[in-house]
Amino acid sequence: MPVRSLITGGAGFIGSHLSEALLARGEEVYVLDNLSTGSIVNIDHLKSRPGYHYVLDSVHNNSVVAEMVDRCDIVYHLAAAVGVKLIVEDPVNTIETNVHGTETVLQNASKKGKKVLIASTSEVYGKSEQFPFREDQDVVLGPSSKSRWSYACSKLVDEFLALAYLRQKKLPVVIVRLFNTVGPRQTGRYGMVIPTFVRQALLNEPITVYGDGNQSRSFTYVGDVVWALARLAQAPEAIGQIFNIGSGEEITINELASLIKQMTGSKSEIVHIPYGEAYEEGFEDTGRRVPDISRLVAAIGYKPSWNLRGILERVIEHTASELAETTRAVSIAV
Ligand code: UDP
Repeated sequence: MPVRSLITGGAGFIGSHLSEALLARGEEVYVLDNLSTGSIVNIDHLKSRPGYHYVLDSVHNNSVVAEMVDRCDIVYHLAAAVGVKLIVEDPVNTIETNVHGTETVLQNASKKGKKVLIASTSEVYGKSEQFPFREDQDVVLGPSSKSRWSYACSKLVDEFLALAYLRQKKLPVVIVRLFNTVGPRQTGRYGMVIPTFVRQALLNEPITVYGDGNQSRSFTYVGDVVWALARLAQAPEAIGQIFNIGSGEEITINELASLIKQMTGSKSEIVHIPYGEAYEEGFEDTGRRVPDISRLVAAIGYKPSWNLRGILERVIEHTASELAETTRAVSIAV
């Protein structure tokens, strides 16, 4: 009997790649997604695959979650409000989706004793300056008057709740903190920097660096992230632990803009936009974000397969073919 995995948020960027990985290792995949930030296009190629099932509904719908949890052996809870832009624009939905959705999943998983892997975020480290970020260090968040921090806070509540279920109800849970994850199918619609820059560069439009561009990030290929998720789900020693999933290769946003411009041969101008204009007045960015991944390496022998250049090559290729497809569709229509 194959393992049956439920992926909430399975039509999202990471969820669709995770579905592919689990199907490839012979599992049955059940996806729950309300398409709020996910897209049917992400799963079009999976719909006819044997062992793939999807339900278009919300993690807030208790009876649907109960039914799907009951049917599956393990839950990958990825459904969440994502993207800093979205969070700033729609804080009510961010908090409610992240807190209430996780509560619904954990309650139902606990009733049936099903293992849950909870996707948290590197955002929880906030403004900490203790680099590289380790899972057990203190977090430093900004004030509640700045809506950006609602994302970190809501995800921390998810982590607390998952660990509380473990301690009090013996529910097997694993928590992962995903660092900036990138790859084909990620959309720039919610502000993510790499799909945004690549698209701008390919269209020869201005590349929009926010702030002074000296802030840095480390980017991880989505294929490496889903490999780690799938392995952690099978590792008994991972239960009750928190893992950073990311890469140590850091780059400033200014350097990233120049690299993408050079790799695409773009004529785009690189422009700087104040944070207040890009997000909201008084917006606070995280200046640097880099993980310590030694815990993940020790648990599952994690080793990223793609460096930043390799990741960018793939994203550029994917975005170029998407743009060519759109141009073709428009020319057929006119
Ligand atoms: N960013 C940028 N231009 C954009 C989009 C994002 O300069 O068009 C910056 C953003 O301000 C942040 C970094 O790129 O400093 C990464 O942003 P993203 O939203 O991808 O992820 P975050 O690390 O903020 O969660």
